[in-house]
Amino acid sequence: MNWISKRIQNLSESETLAMSKKSRELKAQGHKVINLSIGEPDFNTPEFIKEAGKEAIDQNFTHYPPVSGYPELREAISQKLKRDNDLDFPPDQIVVSAGAKHSIANVILALVDPGDEVLIPVPYWVSYKELVKLAEGKPVFIQAPIEQDFKITAQQLEAAITPRTKLMIYSSPCNPSGSVYTNEELKAIAAVLKKYPRVHVISDEIYEHINFTGKHYSLASFPEIRDQVIVINGVSKGFSMTGWRLGYMAATKSIVQACDKLQGQVTSGICTISQRASIAALLADPAKSEDLINMQRAFLKRRDLVLDLLGQIPDITVNKPAGAFYVFPDVSAYFGKSFGSGKIENSTELCDYLLNEVHVALVAGSAFGNNNCIRLSYATSEDLLIEAIERIQKALENLK
Ligand code: PMP
Ligand code: GLU
Repeated sequence: MNWISKRIQNLSESETLAMSKKSRELKAQGHKVINLSIGEPDFNTPEFIKEAGKEAIDQNFTHYPPVSGYPELREAISQKLKRDNDLDFPPDQIVVSAGAKHSIANVILALVDPGDEVLIPVPYWVSYKELVKLAEGKPVFIQAPIEQDFKITAQQLEAAITPRTKLMIYSSPCNPSGSVYTNEELKAIAAVLKKYPRVHVISDEIYEHINFTGKHYSLASFPEIRDQVIVINGVSKGFSMTGWRLGYMAATKSIVQACDKLQGQVTSGICTISQRASIAALLADPAKSEDLINMQRAFLKRRDLVLDLLGQIPDITVNKPAGAFYVFPDVSAYFGKSFGSGKIENSTELCDYLLNEVHVALVAGSAFGNNNCIRLSYATSEDLLIEAIERIQKALENLK
């Protein structure tokens, strides 16, 4: 007898986290694994943020916080949204959660009824589809192949909208492709959304600070659709704070109140120490923060290195990501090839082959809805990236 609810039985494990788990297990067995599967900056949290966390303990910020977050933190987020994005969201239109993933889960559960259609451009971040399934919504995919730089067009969006469409979820800069929507592309998408005021959009901007185009644009900056947009962001990526688990959303009051109610029953609010540290992070102007600028420089250098090295491997097609810290090469030319007694038919089998044969952990494109590709996270040192891609090249050359 399986006691586990159908809801959880139907939920897939996060494939990004699963691949990292596999790579940790191989490491524990003594193999020299290079883990390019997890999307996590390899830098430590900047000192001034850690100091704020330590002070929070000494100052006894150790009691239950308000469910939506300390007012000072929501004020800091409100100022950040104005300073960096020219968005006006007062503190009572902001909810702080345990990571952007938690914020996204709250919003999906707050908006999606069983049977509601949720538009998800492909490739998508792994958790979107599963969270929609958890809410008993119906994911509807819009294909954005490599030829479109993995971005959907406004026409594709309009063609996908039906009377059941409730929500769209996308990220820019995008995980897994690194693609960034231009302001013109967002404007065209906003023009479509304006015609369908009941359709809301989760604009996942967690990679805002890792953007090589020089400027981040938010879909919420178009006033005509502002009330339809839920902005998601957090401190994990831009400030190297993945373990502090702090993210936030900004939206209309009714959506914020719904998320506050849900969160009040599920978590009673977010870790107080992380909240105080995040105030320090968010009050720092990113344009002047040396820590942030150095991280951004390192990521850009690594992106160019990875593109250069991958470009030397035959039969791999790769776009030039304008942000985040991923590349999403098309490796389908290697499908149908064999090694020993095995044959590679898809992206999962190719990733398993690379992990088992040369101990490089990547994530199969199928986890993100595109089976022709694999995702490589370059959030690691240049030396390791060089060694990893050498290993990948050798392994691919060995396929017959
Ligand atoms: N959105 C995207 C696109 C991501 O890649 C991630 C990965 N961390 C998240 C949201 C969640 O971030 P966190 O929960 O660490 O804030
Ligand atoms: N977002 C990161 C990734 O895609 C971290 C893992 C996760 O949260 O799923 O790898």
